[in-house]
Amino acid sequence: MDVRELYRDVILDHNRSPRNFGRLEPADASAVGHNPLCGDALSVTLRLDGDRLSEMRFNGQGCAISIASASLMSEAVSGKSLKDVEALYREVHALLTEASHVPSIPLGKLMALGGVREYPARVKCASLCWHTLNAALHQSADAGAPPTVSTEQS
Ligand code: ZN
Repeated sequence: MDVRELYRDVILDHNRSPRNFGRLEPADASAVGHNPLCGDALSVTLRLDGDRLSEMRFNGQGCAISIASASLMSEAVSGKSLKDVEALYREVHALLTEASHVPSIPLGKLMALGGVREYPARVKCASLCWHTLNAALHQSADAGAPPTVSTEQS
């Protein structure tokens, strides 16, 4: 299956029936992310078990790509060590932004996100959930309100 076919099938599937949609209450960490260019707004909640991300859910509103990307991410990161989550975050970022990137770890269905490169305006839609997850993982335990990230901040 080529990336274009994979892209269409996987994005359609995960947009139609998003996995891990909802909120964890209570959660060990959370963050909110906005992509003002498209209007995507997602929140991520997660539970940690030592240095493992045991469970992650997301909710909010967004375009098909932002929802499908968050759904794919939730499947990919659940149960992974924080080190592996960090590695996935870096790989997906490279996949979304570098045309000839060859992943150094198996990405499975996440490879479908590479299809977004054909639509540069949508790259931020696909990366929003990853930035939001990253913010949640780096919030300090007693920071109070969950961090908010925007694709237009940096
Ligand atoms: Zn979007």
